[in-house]
Amino acid sequence: LVRLRARLSKSNNSLGRGLLTLLSRDRLDDDAWEEIEETLLMADVGLESTNRIVERLRERVKVLGTRTAEELRGLLSEELTAALDPSFDRALNATGDGERPAVLLVVGVNGAGKTTTCGKIARVLIADGHSVVLGAADTFRAAAADQLETWGKRVGSTVVRGPEGGDPASVAFDAVKTGTEQGADSVLVDTAGRLQNKTGLMDELGKVKRVIEKQGPVAETLLIIDATTGQNGLEQARVFTEVCQVTGVVLTKLDGTAKGGIVIAVQQTLGVPVKLIGLGEGPDDLAPFDVQQFVDALLD
Ligand code: GDP
Repeated sequence: LVRLRARLSKSNNSLGRGLLTLLSRDRLDDDAWEEIEETLLMADVGLESTNRIVERLRERVKVLGTRTAEELRGLLSEELTAALDPSFDRALNATGDGERPAVLLVVGVNGAGKTTTCGKIARVLIADGHSVVLGAADTFRAAAADQLETWGKRVGSTVVRGPEGGDPASVAFDAVKTGTEQGADSVLVDTAGRLQNKTGLMDELGKVKRVIEKQGPVAETLLIIDATTGQNGLEQARVFTEVCQVTGVVLTKLDGTAKGGIVIAVQQTLGVPVKLIGLGEGPDDLAPFDVQQFVDALLD
């Protein structure tokens, strides 16, 4: 939590602090509420969620009458928590049943942080005593497979790769097969993020998934979203939720943005829980997404 705070505090609690300052004003007139709205929009909370949060805050502040700082903090904490939907199941289905490894398909646009996140997840699983196989199904760029191999060496997991320009589905198949043969607990399949056209992407990811499913179900399809790309990135991300059944989002680069509100917009727009957050480029810079911790970090 301390680390989360430190990573977010650079920029991020400007959202929480900004809101608290605004709400503490003696007179909360229309202008003040407009500023509160702007603050939320600037933090990438998104229009729909912003409207809902402001509406609820207005109502509750009215009921409250005079407000102490403590009361305002509590109120804001409650509303941000509600906006982050604490009822989502955020547990990662990442380890197998002893017979078959859990297969995690990792998707998202280029540069979002897929390969890095595969490495970080492998690191966490291995630290917990599990064995992991990484599959380099991004055969489009040789550098992507090299990068995954570097991560494999770093964290201690087998990496399965194919020839450059080869069939991604066949690499995915081999990775799952290797994982099963080795008795691994998890297989993480890193994919390409080409988005020139939706049909191509759909074909490629669809095939990867079908081929994996010949050996059993996919445990998780994780969509990696770069938090710094804002509402734009969300539009691109939406295509993936249309193409494959995304079970969780990993929001990366939260260390590099003042716009932590994007977590709210992601869930609201995609209807999928944020399960993990990326807080840096290093192997340990991954954290489970915990609503209360996140809200506390925003408000402190
Ligand atoms: P991919 O193309 O989706 O596989 O993306 P990569 O894993 O290659 O990541 C793209 C860049 O983002 C790399 O320079 C990573 O080090 C960086 N990156 C990934 N996750 C994070 C994060 O959580 N925080 C920061 N600051 N950088 C990240």
